[in-house]
Amino acid sequence: MTDNNKKPSHTIAELGEFGLIDYLTKNLEHFQPNTVTGVGDDAAVIDIGDKYLLLTKDLLLEGIHFDMTYQPLRHLGYKAVAVNLSDICAMNGTPTHILVGIGISNRYTLEAVEEIYEGMRLACEKYKVDFVGGDTTSSVQGLVLSITAIGTVKKDKVTYRGPALPNELICVSGDLGGAYAGLLLLEREKAEFKVNPDMQPDLQGNEYVLERFLKPEPRQDIIRILQDIHVKPTAMIDISDGLASEIKHICKHSDLGCALYEEKIPIDQQTYDIARSFNIDPTTCALNGGEDYELLFTIRQNDYEKVKNIPEISIIGHMTEKSAGINLITKSGSLVEIKAQGWDHLKK
Ligand SMILES: [Mg+2]
Repeated sequence: MTDNNKKPSHTIAELGEFGLIDYLTKNLEHFQPNTVTGVGDDAAVIDIGDKYLLLTKDLLLEGIHFDMTYQPLRHLGYKAVAVNLSDICAMNGTPTHILVGIGISNRYTLEAVEEIYEGMRLACEKYKVDFVGGDTTSSVQGLVLSITAIGTVKKDKVTYRGPALPNELICVSGDLGGAYAGLLLLEREKAEFKVNPDMQPDLQGNEYVLERFLKPEPRQDIIRILQDIHVKPTAMIDISDGLASEIKHICKHSDLGCALYEEKIPIDQQTYDIARSFNIDPTTCALNGGEDYELLFTIRQNDYEKVKNIPEISIIGHMTEKSAGINLITKSGSLVEIKAQGWDHLKK
């Protein structure tokens, strides 16, 4: 007889998203000899002979991951595909196919669902990915989108979250914190709309950050650039939960610490201005905002010359011994331990 009343030692809220994943998957066995990596990286890695197959899945829930008040449906479809392709990029791979699961409540019209599919089609077209199947069902409440992305990578090109080595350089693509700045604006307009439904949204001039939030792009271009300059990252992850959370993953997988330099973290002027107008430190947006879908990776010191003049890549720090800790060197020169808040929906 099973004892269903036995009190578990933790609650889901205490474990948080990553703790819950570790807890639920700790007893999983692999039965297939070609499973190279299972749970715990941006994508699973399967040996299919001459290359590796990459598999990843994301689940997007209305009310948790998106808000229908300000998320255009076409953008939502696009973003749902883009964030999955980003995980394939994080493995240094090329996405090839997607499978789409969708749960729709009767609140949605056929036209609305068509808009979501049009967004997914546009993302597939841009990234030359084939939509090859899925499942459609009704949902009691809200919209559910679950996408599986499939890709491939040459065996000697695959990148994991680690291990990086001490003194390797930490790099990031694009700029950070923009998606969160966009979200701040949209949340502000939503709150004002609730008070005054006749108002016109005041979003002009902030297109960059709005697009960062509503329509992110996977950085496949960075994967190509790194290939062209013959640099293979020693560790790589995409930034879905914020720089702080992601660098901690790289440190954990490398059993190392790191030093990030605040002044080197790339932040767009628009992001900077909006964060300031909300009395939020722009660095906090970059560290804990999330949803930027940029690539965070480490490179060998020998590769510095190849990377230093690439405009889309910033070198923001280096790996250290574990005992040194995971630290931010602030603009004023003080050392602050990086704590990941991220977007951990399960933690209180
Ligand atoms: Mg990821």
